[in-house]
Amino acid sequence: MNTHAHLFKRYIAQASEYPTFTVDVERAEGIYIWDTQGKKYIDFISSICVNNLGHRHPQILEAIHKQMDQYLHVMVYGEFIQGPQLALAQKLAELLPEQLQKIFFLNSGSEAIEGAIKLARLYNKRKEIIGFAKSYHGSTMGAMSVLGHDKIRDTFEPLLPCHKMLPYNSEADLNAITTQTCCVIAEVIQSGAGMVCAEQNFLTQLRKRCTEVGALLIFDEIQTGFGRTAKLFAFEHYGVVPDILCIAKGMGGGMPISAFISSVALMELLNNEHPLLGHASTFGGHPLSCVSSLKALELINTPEILGQVEAKGQRIRNHLKTHPQILEVRGKGLFLAVVFKDPTHIEQIVERCMANGFITLWLLFNHEVLALTPPLTITNQEIDMAMAIFKQSLDEAFRTYEKQK
Ligand code: PMP
Repeated sequence: MNTHAHLFKRYIAQASEYPTFTVDVERAEGIYIWDTQGKKYIDFISSICVNNLGHRHPQILEAIHKQMDQYLHVMVYGEFIQGPQLALAQKLAELLPEQLQKIFFLNSGSEAIEGAIKLARLYNKRKEIIGFAKSYHGSTMGAMSVLGHDKIRDTFEPLLPCHKMLPYNSEADLNAITTQTCCVIAEVIQSGAGMVCAEQNFLTQLRKRCTEVGALLIFDEIQTGFGRTAKLFAFEHYGVVPDILCIAKGMGGGMPISAFISSVALMELLNNEHPLLGHASTFGGHPLSCVSSLKALELINTPEILGQVEAKGQRIRNHLKTHPQILEVRGKGLFLAVVFKDPTHIEQIVERCMANGFITLWLLFNHEVLALTPPLTITNQEIDMAMAIFKQSLDEAFRTYEKQK
């Protein structure tokens, strides 16, 4: 362990296991991260779907620098109009359907989920929240109430009343959503489960059932938003629009920002219903994050970036489709997971990848698959080079595994 790794362990609180590898970051640019020893890594997970434009995109840096010279934080309770927030909200509204037009800015994905749940509460005053097995929505108490993992969730009980965690993609179970249900929270593609895509019928029926019983449908597009799946938002693949959309991660172009978005009428409940200030955030929609986010949105929503995501995803699939160790590549666009025929040596695979300068990781609730979610800006040449390293790492790990058997 190098000195920084030792200090990191001593001073920085973590709720995850200390991994066997540590990358002591020196700088990052494009698809690369360099450590303090000068070693270069390809960030093939975009630091968990945040750096959709790669690290430190020059136009994002320029937008941030410009805003830094104007103002940083000013008060956020309605007294001051901030141009960067306004421009971003208008652009988002222009790109979203008519049911999603009013935007509440926050800082993190978890906060967006909290806001969405509270808005649903204001809407129908019901208590029951429904989520899906193997879903992750954040670490605040509300978001954790809909965590699709009993052991972690139970540790923190009492949480919000969310005693129905339905199996994902099961139409038969949607009847559990009733007139008692306040809201249902779903990922359009489940990331923690290993890029499990919703089936069209399931999502259509979920929407129908929520409307029938007066429950609000909340989509968590915190990982899938901002071009990751080859559409700006993953729900566009299905033509199913939620009542509330939660976004974060890739939204900020590398800066912290999140939002929940609904119709104007629904969001107005936060204004008209008492108590006032039922939801607020000091730093939500910080001007630096807003200019960064707007620039990210403008850059992503172009034929050069968004228009290429599908083909780039396909290029990765083509590299891997006949590999003897790989069963399947799952997901949409550049939101992909590799499923192995024999996942028992997956730790060795990750270890070889890291040693060879290729960053990938297993998923939260599925340690048998690896995420492949590179920056959307990755070039074809970079994909070919990265896939050569990945395949070499697979072969090396397999050889070691075979020897140890
Ligand atoms: N939802 C999903 C799908 C996520 O992946 C995450 C973060 N990994 C969150 C919500 C929570 O976001 P944050 O960590 O910014 O609170």
